[in-house]
Amino acid sequence: MNRRQWLYSTGVMAGSAALAKSVRLAAAEPEAAPSPSRQDAPLALADYEPQSMLQVPETQIARSLFPIIDIHTHITVSAKSENGVGLAAARQYLGAPQELLVTMDRKNIRAMVNLTGGYDQALAEVVAKYDRAFPGRFYTFTEPSYSRFKDPEYPKIQGQAIEQAHRDGARGLKILKTLGLYLRENITSGTLVKIDDPRFDLMWDTCGQLDIPVAIHISDPIAFFTPTDRFNERYEELNNHPDWSFHDHDFPSNAQLIEERNRVLARHPKTRFIVLHVGNFSENLQNVAENLDRFPNMTVDIAARIGELGRQPRTARKFFDKYQDRILFGTDATPHGEQFPQQVFNDQLYEIYYRFLESDDEYFDYAPAKVPPQGRWRIYGIHLPESILRKVYYENAARELRITV
Ligand SMILES: [Zn+2]
Repeated sequence: MNRRQWLYSTGVMAGSAALAKSVRLAAAEPEAAPSPSRQDAPLALADYEPQSMLQVPETQIARSLFPIIDIHTHITVSAKSENGVGLAAARQYLGAPQELLVTMDRKNIRAMVNLTGGYDQALAEVVAKYDRAFPGRFYTFTEPSYSRFKDPEYPKIQGQAIEQAHRDGARGLKILKTLGLYLRENITSGTLVKIDDPRFDLMWDTCGQLDIPVAIHISDPIAFFTPTDRFNERYEELNNHPDWSFHDHDFPSNAQLIEERNRVLARHPKTRFIVLHVGNFSENLQNVAENLDRFPNMTVDIAARIGELGRQPRTARKFFDKYQDRILFGTDATPHGEQFPQQVFNDQLYEIYYRFLESDDEYFDYAPAKVPPQGRWRIYGIHLPESILRKVYYENAARELRITV
């Protein structure tokens, strides 16, 4: 009996009166705090928390149908950064392994891939504390050391640093959007360095030679490149995080960033790239599909983008059908990251991902938050078959990481 049959047999999904009642009870309870009513005062957008009156089945999925590998998490981050550029190998630890394992076991998470493991001795320490201490549960990626960028020998130094990181146990290289949007000729000042700058060629090639993937994040939601005004569908998100806006100044456009990235993919066919956040263009799956067709060395993850995928469920479902071997499960989970509800590492976050992938539920929240944090819409499940779930949950990631699960 699969989960769906079980849900039907227990009446969880049957269209009964009992169900209607449980659905209604399951809807978010309005906060008891007094709020202005009707004509008392104009209601500020930030105070508006509409409760959906829709009564439709609510599938609760506490554990994924198959064990998952979360290819995109941030358990450690750079302890020092300036103007968006990480400048220290030293790490800030966001969650102890013993603490994370409790949630992982409860949610059927076989392994977390910590993309921001840093480099040098700090990386080796992360690998020792997580990967080596709990084999098969944690994998750590290394990152470039941009603080050395001004050294004329940088390409060679960076290539060797990747080799050393690999010897120290790194399972891949992570590129934050630092490259393309923050790193400048004088590291934190000057003109922006392009993603396809030849000074990184050796770094990309070294990853190919070592057969480790590059997880690359470039660009951001397309709305971040448009003015933060009344037409912006992510107005509240940008208002909460003004530094996330790439409109104006000397920032390149989303299209330019994607072109720069594509030139890297084309120039390094033997290097495997996991292009994060649905190829960094989840608003346009046609574009992502064209690039997947063009670049056999490209895969994508779905981290922090189920809000986008889930508001286009029919297009997303076709995308998963066609590219089922090239989509990896990821969340962008950050322990104690409450200020970013769409990526906070907790039970609710994973349940939302499972619900999106496994159920055909309608109109539910894409993040554990009172107000949808990325834009005021809700999402729909895409009800993937077991054969695709197995690939997306762990088989594709295991292949890219060269591990057996
Ligand atoms: Zn991330």
